[in-house]
Amino acid sequence: MSVERKISLTKKYMYSALIIAGAVVAAFGIRVLVGPRLKTANSGYRVVMGTFANITAVAGDSKTAGICVEAAFDKLKYVDEVMSDYKAESQLSQVNREAFGRPVHVDENLFEVLRISGEYSRQTENAFDITVGPIVDLWRQAQELKRLPTEAELAEARSRVGFGKLALNRADKTVRFGVKGMRLDLGGIAKGYAIDSAIEAMEKAGAVGGLVDLGGDVRCFGTPSDNKASWLVGLQDPAADDRLLLVLKLRDMAVATSGGYRRFTEIDGQRYSHIINPGAGASADELISVSIIAQTATAADTLATAVSVLGGEKGLELIDSLSETEAILVGAGKTAELIHTEGVRRYVDTTQAVPVYSTASKVAGQRKPWPKENQL
Ligand code: AMP
Ligand code: MG
Repeated sequence: MSVERKISLTKKYMYSALIIAGAVVAAFGIRVLVGPRLKTANSGYRVVMGTFANITAVAGDSKTAGICVEAAFDKLKYVDEVMSDYKAESQLSQVNREAFGRPVHVDENLFEVLRISGEYSRQTENAFDITVGPIVDLWRQAQELKRLPTEAELAEARSRVGFGKLALNRADKTVRFGVKGMRLDLGGIAKGYAIDSAIEAMEKAGAVGGLVDLGGDVRCFGTPSDNKASWLVGLQDPAADDRLLLVLKLRDMAVATSGGYRRFTEIDGQRYSHIINPGAGASADELISVSIIAQTATAADTLATAVSVLGGEKGLELIDSLSETEAILVGAGKTAELIHTEGVRRYVDTTQAVPVYSTASKVAGQRKPWPKENQL
């Protein structure tokens, strides 16, 4: 006989039923007072900006949460349309084609990215430099030719690199190249900027919490999903695709990872990172992986690229000088040493063996134990 049936049969049980019903009403009342139960929408993985994106929105109702996810995706697509250097019709491509001959007017978002890029160039002593395009091209070409760029080629390319050779006109929102053959490359900042724009769009559309994961760069805000105290973000182990380095617990923070382990040029069995030291013209190979935790994805993205160039010592010096900014570095070479700023500890979830949000689709949902040797 079911419990419900017993309750309906005896008076004693009827009282119990009333008490239970009362408790349910009270609980419901309290919930109404506290606020409605939040709903979560998750996009699953979708391809955008040449990588995978996964967006989660938390809102008062399912419909709003769904609208927030789509608003965030619209922003990612918009940033890609304006700033992609793969798309010939993007504004960035137009700038690269025409900005030596005349000042090219750009969208205010693109202008903002150019202006912010200049600030990061100054802050990082030009380790971060979006004018690095000509040297990036040389290294891409090296992959096809199966030989390293020559000194002469590098010197010539370097003559077309330098943020100071770019004229930005704030009033007209125009950009002009001071040297023929310059090429802007937003590969080190566009993802971060897109994530920040997407988060802003979600907030505007009514989300009380959300997370945007774009190719492993992540920003979260507000109330985490599933009644958790924090958003959980797994960082991929650069040495093994199917393993996590560690799991971060974040609230209102971003994390971005740069590293030679993801994209590189291989010549004669030697790997060269796709990140370039603009001053030297060389690929930046001291660190295999650089993760930066910061308040915005734009900051995390640019600083991860810059620290890859600066290397461990100077890189940590830079990050230590910035508030609310932390770094987790993995050295290249056999030892693959893990180095981090002191403040990283408070973001590391040492109890969490299973990541809820991982940094790439490849590792999503994996069930690997917490790596003991990497405990902080
Ligand atoms: P990320 O993965 O964010 O570190 O960005 C790397 C991409 O940014 C490269 O593939 C290049 O397109 C571009 N890049 C390479 N070196 C630099 C640099 N020193 N400063 C800015 N962007 C760079
Ligand atoms: Mg970057």
